[in-house]
Amino acid sequence: MAYCFISDLHLQEEKPEVTEAFLSFLDSTAREAQHLYILGDLFEVWIGDDFKSELSHLIKEKLLLLKATSTSVFAMHGNRDFLIGERFCEDTGITLLDDPYKLDLFGKATLLMHGDLLCTKDVDYQEFRNMSRNPQWRKEFLNKPIEERERMAEALRLDSKEATNLKKDEIMDVTPEAVEEIMTLHNVELLIHGHTHRPKVHSLEINEIPAQRIVLGDWDKSAWYIWMDNKSCELKELPIA
Ligand code: MN
Repeated sequence: MAYCFISDLHLQEEKPEVTEAFLSFLDSTAREAQHLYILGDLFEVWIGDDFKSELSHLIKEKLLLLKATSTSVFAMHGNRDFLIGERFCEDTGITLLDDPYKLDLFGKATLLMHGDLLCTKDVDYQEFRNMSRNPQWRKEFLNKPIEERERMAEALRLDSKEATNLKKDEIMDVTPEAVEEIMTLHNVELLIHGHTHRPKVHSLEINEIPAQRIVLGDWDKSAWYIWMDNKSCELKELPIA
């Protein structure tokens, strides 16, 4: 029995080497796990399940095959692909999870998150998040023609890039207060998330009890994943050619 966690692949046509790395990961490492968790930002952009591309088709087929042959696949929305909906989940056989999501891993109370909710100093982004996760906003956006959605998504992407360049480094990271608060609220000793692109295993104390926060890396130069079985829990890195 093993669990595998990944996040922030940011799959896009412009980076075929990352798509290749993901497809081969699904053929190898992921197949050895019974459960694969994709903790957000599988895609760089997602403007609705009705938008068809070669990339999305390829990924759908592969995920469906993985599910059919060996591995249950779970996914969470990221800040880039939060418009993934029911149809995509049906087409791929993945189960969509809430953020945060609590589960028990070999007796360890664990919380899974994308990670954006923990960046509480990024006030502008949190405002956008609140607005865009509203069902009414979502419905209105998804009802627009595809070309308009593409234009809006591109504008948002450029805005966010520009804002990110102007923001101080610490604003883009999680705040220790938010980590402590959510781990206390859910009473967990392990938190796994991505989003910040700062892969690391952090040892901490939550209410005087030893705890861990493991941050997944984004897939760019390397493929990052966490492998957890009954013997160990490790953050691993594979080079992307
Ligand atoms: Mn993200």
